[in-house]
Amino acid sequence: MGHRVYIETYGCQMNLADSEIVLGHLGRHGFVEAGSAADADVILLNTCAIREHAEERVVGRLTQLLPLKLRDPRLRIGILGCMAQHHRASLLDRLPFLDFVLGPDEYRNLPTILDRQGFDDPTIEVRLGRDETYADVSPARREGVRAWVSVMRGCDKFCTFCIVPYVRGRERSLPLRLILDQVNEAARAGFREIVFLGQTVNAYRHDDVDFADLLRAAARVTGIARIRFTSPHPSEMSDRVIEVMATEQAVCPQVHLPLQSASDTVLERMGRGYTIEQYDRLLERLRRARPGIEFSTDIIVGFPGETESDFQATLDYLRHAGYDHAFSFAYSRREGTRAARWHETVDRAEKRRRLTTVIEVQERISLERSRAWCGRSVEVLVEGAARRGQGWLSGKSAEFKTAVFPSGRHAAGEVVRVLVRDATAHTLIGDAVEGQSPEACANA
Ligand code: SAM
Ligand code: SF4
Repeated sequence: MGHRVYIETYGCQMNLADSEIVLGHLGRHGFVEAGSAADADVILLNTCAIREHAEERVVGRLTQLLPLKLRDPRLRIGILGCMAQHHRASLLDRLPFLDFVLGPDEYRNLPTILDRQGFDDPTIEVRLGRDETYADVSPARREGVRAWVSVMRGCDKFCTFCIVPYVRGRERSLPLRLILDQVNEAARAGFREIVFLGQTVNAYRHDDVDFADLLRAAARVTGIARIRFTSPHPSEMSDRVIEVMATEQAVCPQVHLPLQSASDTVLERMGRGYTIEQYDRLLERLRRARPGIEFSTDIIVGFPGETESDFQATLDYLRHAGYDHAFSFAYSRREGTRAARWHETVDRAEKRRRLTTVIEVQERISLERSRAWCGRSVEVLVEGAARRGQGWLSGKSAEFKTAVFPSGRHAAGEVVRVLVRDATAHTLIGDAVEGQSPEACANA
């Protein structure tokens, strides 16, 4: 069979990183990346199962791809990742033209499956490995300034709403040495920023090395200007990690800290392992340790049993916490989780109302916080052309704010000081200022 592979990725950054691992692994076995689905011999959809909507998107996309298969029956189409693990063989009842269904710990077998002769019956491989970390596979990274490095896989938290522990298996971490090899390799390839990934990334532990040790070691790697991580779990944020945030300037002053709800009753039923007071104290400690730090979060509305006053508590907390950004979701019942056995008390229309309200409230907060940057300067790691048109560059500040400015002589990979003169809720707009101190900019 042909060896041109096209992969589409759905869901979180861990899936994007997994797709790079899959392409890296296939590359070692002689496969090359195709530019589009129409040019491919193999089409892979790396899928997400976190919400029903994510799964519907994949089914819709597969229906679109079907004519390609009808035109060329040698084309192989396979589903990878969380949705494959969640639905397994039942996916073939719905989508009988699929050639294979592979869970997140089965990617090593892909070259063999694809090279197998007389490939008639679909293959289903969905074992979860307690040890699989793909630590030895060099990911085929997309060009850019930011390299994603998965440092742990799986999750042991079993929040009652969440499918992740069932589809990604138990927590396991990569050895420090192999992670640092990846960081060094990325630095040599020109990446300036590293993002450590894991479902509960700060639960990283390998032998007696913990997440604080990992951050400190990575901060010493020459060529890497910035280190971020996502998503940490509030109950795993140790004093040692907070200390690293305070002392290692390469570790960015930005943390995505999923809250889910600000009602203790809801948090308890979600099995999150913290109260709102403990969470709030954590934000305060991080703010004290690293002045200027910015936070983002995840919110779920309409969880079974969430009352209007629980919901109001979440809105109040958003105003109090002052997140830079929040990803908000309507609760989606996931078969197999504990919450799936509970009666849904919030109907679809009410979930939608709560979701719209949360988004509106947070948008106002985001805009206010963005505007507060006007007149100040930020250090922007330039990523490339801005979407607003020719002659503009875009990048992120250390706090993970998107900033755009007229390009001048600057290019991707540079760190440029930008004086902010305008802002939308999610973008700072400014001009590059050379040779001026931040104070001079602020007073300009
Ligand atoms: N591990 C991270 C944590 O808990 O801190 C979150 C990872 S999860 C892939 C990303 C987000 O999806 C969660 O923070 C949650 O807000 C949302 N999510 C997970 N399960 C969901 C569900 N059943 N319905 C709606 N949103 C969900
Ligand atoms: Fe899901 Fe909770 Fe694990 Fe996050 S910590 S991945 S929400 S089970």
